[in-house]
Amino acid sequence: MRLPVVAGNWKMNTNIDQAIELAQEMRDRLDKVRGVEKVLCPPFVSLSAVGKVISGSSIKLGAQNMYFEEKGAYTGEVSPLMLAGLCEYVILGHSERRQYFGENDEIVNEKVKAALKAGLKPILCVGERLEENEAGRTEEVVTSQTRGALAGVGFSESLVVAYEPVWAIGTGKAASGKQANDTIRLIRSTLGKLYGKASSQSIRIQYGGSVTAANIGEFISQPDIDGALVGGASLKAGEFLSIVEQTANAKR
Ligand code: PEP
Repeated sequence: MRLPVVAGNWKMNTNIDQAIELAQEMRDRLDKVRGVEKVLCPPFVSLSAVGKVISGSSIKLGAQNMYFEEKGAYTGEVSPLMLAGLCEYVILGHSERRQYFGENDEIVNEKVKAALKAGLKPILCVGERLEENEAGRTEEVVTSQTRGALAGVGFSESLVVAYEPVWAIGTGKAASGKQANDTIRLIRSTLGKLYGKASSQSIRIQYGGSVTAANIGEFISQPDIDGALVGGASLKAGEFLSIVEQTANAKR
């Protein structure tokens, strides 16, 4: 049995005061939900403050990105060593990083290695763009992204994969539960080729892309989907709580 994991990616939203307020609004209700791991991923500048709000609760903290070098002359970057001890998870290879900041599979691969070395749990994002989906290239793209990001990376139960079709992110146009489950099964089979079938069964794979309280049920009822990476809907306390609760109930 894989413990489902729901992570809220706040992206470049909230200043420190707003992040504290949002975390405070969620804290007690989210803390009480059992049977699902809950992760909040605020912007870097609010990690410490949100960490204080959720301290002593069952809620985990995650960063949205990091650089792969440990230290040095990399102005503006945040290293794995800076995050270690501050948060537990780190989102890597998000499609917005790939699209706007030139991240490719080689860079994502370096980041996955560096995160694991620092004791951080990577949430590795993979997913095809609209034109790739329409050209029937979903399998090829997600397989090559998964293999690329994990090249030379040994099996680790800390790894979480998020299947996020780019055309579904922030568009209000989610995949169907079956589409998402089929692709996630494919990703698991790629993990099986890398790490063996039994190990691949222990790695959690989330769906992400326009998840809301209204559609989470469709995803979480699927056998291969182990939770969600939630963007927009994670900025609303009540909606995020409902997504988490529904996930816990469905996987009980
Ligand atoms: C995301 O940020 O990873 C995401 C899936 O965003 P949204 O839920 O807004 O589509």
